[in-house]
Amino acid sequence: PFHKSKGQHILKNPLLIDSIIQKSGIKPTDFILEIGPGTGNLTKKLLEAGKSVIAVEVDPRMVLELQRRFQGTPFSSRLKVIQGDVLKCELPYFDICVANIPYQISSPLTFKLLSHRPLFRCAVIMFQREFAMRLVAQPGDTLYCRLSVNTQLLARVSHLLKVGRNNFRPPPKVDSSVVRIEPRKPLPPVNFKEWDGLVRICFNRKNKTLGSIFRQKTVLSLLEKNYKTLQALQLSHEGSSDDTEMALAVSALGDTLEDLSMDVDDGRDDEEMEVEDGNAKGSEFKEKVLNVLKQGDFEERRSSKLTQTEFMFLLSLFNKAGIHFS
Ligand code: SAM
Repeated sequence: PFHKSKGQHILKNPLLIDSIIQKSGIKPTDFILEIGPGTGNLTKKLLEAGKSVIAVEVDPRMVLELQRRFQGTPFSSRLKVIQGDVLKCELPYFDICVANIPYQISSPLTFKLLSHRPLFRCAVIMFQREFAMRLVAQPGDTLYCRLSVNTQLLARVSHLLKVGRNNFRPPPKVDSSVVRIEPRKPLPPVNFKEWDGLVRICFNRKNKTLGSIFRQKTVLSLLEKNYKTLQALQLSHEGSSDDTEMALAVSALGDTLEDLSMDVDDGRDDEEMEVEDGNAKGSEFKEKVLNVLKQGDFEERRSSKLTQTEFMFLLSLFNKAGIHFS
């Protein structure tokens, strides 16, 4: 009866559900968003803990089962079920999101939540273990990647619980973890498109030095193109974008990050990197870029060890020199 393609793995361990509820810190006044309620095991305890639950479920059979389960109980007036794909529907207001989600939507869902306004208090979500470890990874950890840096720019993330595959029916092929995501308030005054543009380049070859990354011809020509476009437009492109623009950029991000397959350094040497640019104009621009790296002592550094603050500093140095990533 369960659809593998919809990631249907039902939580069957009541103690685990209690522990998720307890760790999520739900208040009796909370509007709770649940994604993928399935047969409602988690939903029931969310209804006991909060004021109301809005549950988004794509499978009409599950929607029916859920309605049948709570029909005629005191819960039914506090539960609203929306049938549809959570990635496609407009989310309602919520204080907190608690969910055991289908893992294939992890990345786009995370950034859809983070782009939702007004910002919620926190989200407590079950993810595939490796995805969870990427979310919380710190500089120097093997799993530190573009996903870690981008999420941690917008939110504080912490690992709450390790969950073995046998807590689900049917058991998935991988272990899971519950993670807490708390949006930063206020959000940092960073132009998110610029930020992601820089981070994407840096993590393309995350174990190479920034010096060698920014000597790549493809990177230089991209940056030079941006540079020229901006100069032509005579735009002053300083500082931060407004909140709406930020939200748009954040939600678009989910589509560009592919869960788990993203920013893997395949260890290939970039042939192109060694090719010197003969063109005089080109090397002038190259000097400009390398000077920025020198200013902040970044040339010999590697993205795999850079902190949020250092990425922010690097971006501000680039922007000050008129070099942009979007
Ligand atoms: N919350 C239930 C539990 O813990 O027992 C079920 C969790 S199961 C991992 C994921 C649920 O998400 C399934 O009921 C599935 O039908 C639903 N689902 C899958 N893709 C979805 C989507 N794009 N939007 C909303 N729900 C989805």
